[in-house]
Amino acid sequence: MKFRPLSGRQRKGQHMSAPAPSTSTTSGTRIVIAGAGPAAQALVSQLDRARFTGSITVLSNRDDTPEALLELAMLPQVSVRFGQPASHIDAANRTVATADGMEFAYDQLVIATGSAPVAAPVKGAAQCLSYSTIDDAARIGEAVSAVARELGRRPLGILVGTGAAAGQAEAVLRARGVRPIRTTARPAAVVPSLSAGAPAASAVIFEDGSSMNGDLVVLAEERVSRDGLAASAGLRTAANGGIVISDDFRTSVPGIWAIGDAAAFDGVRLGLLVAAASAAGACATQLLTAA
Ligand SMILES: Cc1cc2nc3c(=O)[nH]c(=O)nc-3n(C[C@H](O)[C@H](O)[C@H](O)COP(=O)(O)OP(=O)(O)OC[C@H]3O[C@@H](n4cnc5c(N)ncnc54)[C@H](O)[C@@H]3O)c2cc1C
Repeated sequence: MKFRPLSGRQRKGQHMSAPAPSTSTTSGTRIVIAGAGPAAQALVSQLDRARFTGSITVLSNRDDTPEALLELAMLPQVSVRFGQPASHIDAANRTVATADGMEFAYDQLVIATGSAPVAAPVKGAAQCLSYSTIDDAARIGEAVSAVARELGRRPLGILVGTGAAAGQAEAVLRARGVRPIRTTARPAAVVPSLSAGAPAASAVIFEDGSSMNGDLVVLAEERVSRDGLAASAGLRTAANGGIVISDDFRTSVPGIWAIGDAAAFDGVRLGLLVAAASAAGACATQLLTAA
């Protein structure tokens, strides 16, 4: 996935869309999507493919955006609001407010807010490599190759994390010739490197004062569904995180749906791109029926 910085027109608080269509075959149905990741993008594509001509408003909390989303933003029925996190849902009046106080009325709301790290960032995390989205794999691969070139030998990598993301990060490191040493204990801090030309961080320190030293540090921490927005609006959430959905992607509140990593079916978050895409396809069918 390629990312591109926003132009002046696209920056925070502004939106990007082609002119509004003059007619609508779906009686002006307004769909608002909270979140703009792969699940939201797949949903917009599916609705477009099905010739949905109501309006689709996508709220993204990010200022930069994938190329694919920019292309979707050019569709006549689509308006993407960059840098506008959905922050409050009024389910009774069917409106969503953003952090900046903008309000969007909806007929159907889809929550696709994805996942977030379980814990607050380790102190000094900005100094090291982080595997926190699928797109980070390529970035980490390039960064560790540069470290290996600089050192002139196989680097030793301190890998922090448990779960699937850490497993994938380990595979990325090994594929790039790094010897990973994995710790499942959470460090208290990442130690910045003092020597010029070295990677930004090469060691971690634990609460008890012990430390692990290597040539680079990669954080690949566990993630959980980002369901806070839904929970605050009274939607049912699962004990382990995730917006509870039925098999047709309806949440516990009428007119609100959830797809992708934000959703949990039967207590499980699938956490895969293919799952997000198929959820989007099935949800699009339901939305068109509802419209
Ligand atoms: C490190 C890592 C590696 C992975 N590797 C693979 C892999 O190899 N293969 C695979 O199939 N899957 C992989 N996955 C899983 C895959 O990336 C996810 O399943 C997929 O990204 C889910 O898409 P999503 O749109 O539901 O969520 P996300 O990708 O999390 O996107 C949600 C978006 O919503 C935005 N957002 C959040 N809250 C708000 C708000 N309140 N308002 C507006 N916007 C908001 C977020 O900034 C984000 O852009 C990986 C995931 C991670 C974390």
